[in-house]
Amino acid sequence: MAMNVKPVPTLDDRINDIRLRTAEIVNEHILPNEARLWPNREGTELSEHDRRAAHELREEVKERVYKAGLWAPHLPKEYGGMGLDFLAHAYMNEVLAYAIGAAKLFGVVAPNSGNQRILLKYGTEEQKRRWLVPLVEGTMESGFSMTEPHNPGSDPRSLDTTAVRDGDHWVINGHKWFTSNGIDADFFIVMCRVKDDSGDYGRSGQMAQIIVPTSTRGVNVVRGIGIWGRPVSDHCEVIYEDVRVPLENILGAVGDGHRAAQDRLGAGRIYHCMNSVGQMWRAFDLMVERAATRTVHGGPLKDKQFVQGFIADSYQDIQAARLMTIHAAERIDRDDLDARTDISAIKIFVPAAYERVVDRAIQVWGAAGITNELPLAGMYQGARTLRLADGPDEVHKILIAKNVLHRYESGEGWDFGN
Ligand SMILES: Cc1cc2nc3c(=O)[nH]c(=O)nc-3n(C[C@H](O)[C@H](O)[C@H](O)COP(=O)(O)OP(=O)(O)OC[C@H]3O[C@@H](n4cnc5c(N)ncnc54)[C@H](O)[C@@H]3O)c2cc1C
Repeated sequence: MAMNVKPVPTLDDRINDIRLRTAEIVNEHILPNEARLWPNREGTELSEHDRRAAHELREEVKERVYKAGLWAPHLPKEYGGMGLDFLAHAYMNEVLAYAIGAAKLFGVVAPNSGNQRILLKYGTEEQKRRWLVPLVEGTMESGFSMTEPHNPGSDPRSLDTTAVRDGDHWVINGHKWFTSNGIDADFFIVMCRVKDDSGDYGRSGQMAQIIVPTSTRGVNVVRGIGIWGRPVSDHCEVIYEDVRVPLENILGAVGDGHRAAQDRLGAGRIYHCMNSVGQMWRAFDLMVERAATRTVHGGPLKDKQFVQGFIADSYQDIQAARLMTIHAAERIDRDDLDARTDISAIKIFVPAAYERVVDRAIQVWGAAGITNELPLAGMYQGARTLRLADGPDEVHKILIAKNVLHRYESGEGWDFGN
């Protein structure tokens, strides 16, 4: 089923035009070809011919996206992107996320896209030339290496990978895991605790992000960690053993590391949540379509009240998730400090709503719901995973409560009208 996207009366013509043109490519060129674009979703071994055919088809769609001026919404025009403002990008995301994998065909590939944003904000001109431009051109791949197996990722102050200054180099030692895209990456941005008594690079003992080419001696990509029953993934365990990189590979100053990590996640969470909304929308369409066409126990599923309950509950989940996300996005757009509370609220609510919607869609489809022929099983795992990645639910609940309590302690209530 095609995604039903019409102009939104409250949006300006420019954003509506972007959404409509995005929907046209999604509906006409991606959805009907999903199985051919991503043949390995079926889990079968591909022949060289099928692999090449899929690659060529993906390149064709990318070319179409490029010609339509919809390539890389997250990047400024000078780096080949659309130069989209924040809200337009958010509204575009819900449309392109409707088709699984479409973001890649629009030039948004995690974790490269997050690294591109960090390089744009903190990179020197030389760092941009060396690392950002090849990432944008697709001649390099990257990863972001922060989480450690022996320390809680939800408390990044606990990280103990060190970067010690030695002459003109940083010497990095540490043990990371879940460094996504670790198998293909040409460089990692590594979060380190810096030891440098000179003070030239900021205070000692603070966090910094340092660019590390994966070909550097001492970078050991141990394995792609098996997840969800699959033996291998591209989320890698990496050991850094006396890895030497030039001092100029630091991004920003020592002490910028946490802020850069937050920059990477903060606004990015809006895009992730709008992606989830787009995917919920797809799951909802699939569920309603099946309910309308499947007959059980003498009547169509759509006439059973249990199923009508699924439809109504999912409708509420999607509307609530979407409106909360747009509200948070509008707050970020006007630099409202309370946006932090709303970002945490959507980071908890939206993945959970997404999980519930997909769960109901799978139930309505029966056994077919968990086959590789539908995107629902992958969505289900994705929704569950989102509750861990980018900060687990509990951390965000603590943040919301802290902000709310602070407001009441200062003698004010919470203003839900703004
Ligand atoms: C698919 C995927 C991709 C990832 N990609 C990357 C990547 O590219 N680079 C990278 O560096 N990392 C990556 N991560 C790691 C991710 O950022 C961490 O998993 C996340 O920050 C949580 O850290 P942790 O796994 O160490 O869990 P922990 O910090 O050990 O937390 C475990 C659990 O404890 C609970 N908890 C935490 N704090 C509190 C509290 N204060 N009160 C009550 N309960 C609490 C939560 O339920 C939490 O789930 C990825 C993770 C996944 C699943």
